[in-house]
Amino acid sequence: MFAPVRGMKDLYGVPAKKYRYIIDTARRIGEKYGYAEIKTPIVEATEVFHRSIGDETDVVSKEMYSFLDKGGEELTLRPEGTSAVMRAIVSENLAQSFPVKLMYYGEMFRYDRPQRGRYRQFHQLGFECVGDKSPYTDAILLCMATEILNAIGVFDTKVLLNTLGDSETREAYTKGLVKYLSRHEDKLSEDSKRRLSKNPMRILDSKDANDREICQMAPLITDYLSKESEQYFQKVCDLLEKAGINFEIDSFLVRGLDYYSETAFEFKSTSGEYRDSVGGGGRYDSLLSLFGGAEVSGIGFAFGIERLMLLMEDAKFKEIAPKIAVIPVSESENEVAFQLLKSLYEAEISAEFIHMGTLSKKMKVADRLKCSTAVIIGEDEIKNGCFTLKFMNCENEEEKIKTVAKSDLIGFLKHIH
Ligand code: AMP
Repeated sequence: MFAPVRGMKDLYGVPAKKYRYIIDTARRIGEKYGYAEIKTPIVEATEVFHRSIGDETDVVSKEMYSFLDKGGEELTLRPEGTSAVMRAIVSENLAQSFPVKLMYYGEMFRYDRPQRGRYRQFHQLGFECVGDKSPYTDAILLCMATEILNAIGVFDTKVLLNTLGDSETREAYTKGLVKYLSRHEDKLSEDSKRRLSKNPMRILDSKDANDREICQMAPLITDYLSKESEQYFQKVCDLLEKAGINFEIDSFLVRGLDYYSETAFEFKSTSGEYRDSVGGGGRYDSLLSLFGGAEVSGIGFAFGIERLMLLMEDAKFKEIAPKIAVIPVSESENEVAFQLLKSLYEAEISAEFIHMGTLSKKMKVADRLKCSTAVIIGEDEIKNGCFTLKFMNCENEEEKIKTVAKSDLIGFLKHIH
């Protein structure tokens, strides 16, 4: 017997229903905010991710599923969605005018250590607004993200917010950070030692316990902000406050990918047993131009769908929509039952055709399938132009059975459901 690959899961039952609900809800809300859907391939040229995410990030240096295809091309199963969307905006010439607002969802792949809420194949739901830089845009995006969370029933979350400033800010901050971290170099992990010269801000994102402790006393980016970045961030905070968004400033939030600048954020769950990040994103400058597009700024975020599913209540998704069991007593009634089934579907009524075994076996199947009503079709029913209805959950014996004329059946079933 084969099991799914480690860190990957089959999706069925309640989680499959939740998944669909999340996508449907996000799509509806996304459209309201002006986002159009895009589906990019799961596989991209490896260079797409190297170029945008950054070679020193964990995602690129350790977690990518990269391979050579039979033609010798270097390909990678996408570890995130933003890079592929940027590639598509340029290669499909989608930026006729700005902003370009796109949403996507689907499988992502990272060779990470599997645990609850962390998989090697997982799903993200993401939004990108490219070519529009303003604190208002950032605030509207966060309002949309919060609206999606609320609409799917994930209420107890807060936004951790930070700014990574503009390039001038990051240049000054990097100097201060390197000065501080160099004093602790001997205690840093091997990865962080290497990053000290190549990409020091990545050290703030390290999962190593020692690194994390050292970073706690590191200088804060907020002390290095340029005037423009400071004003920008202040305005974002003001707008979020006015919009009633629950946020908290976290000066160490740098996010796991290199391309962010200015506003960066993460959504964290604040109640229940799962308290990890459910999504994150931020503003990025120059990402589109890395793929040959215009030099414009953008902002985006992605939710981890598995994490959202963990936080949604199960109860609502266990409910089964009312369903009719169409039961011919014997084979002779199969054709009449088949015709009825067809007219039920045409009337948008859910139904099951239960035709195998004895009548009592058919009734048991109807029970197992949680049908609310059985429509029983026998010789007598055909002769009399009526159907016998059995209400499966009715306790009162007198009201459990009812005969309905053939011509009234659809109207009656629509009325009771
Ligand atoms: P990132 O693209 O790393 O910013 O991640 C955005 C969101 O995707 C996170 O907040 C998680 O909800 C989700 N996520 C990232 N990595 C994984 C993973 N390995 N398994 C499940 N969800 C993930």
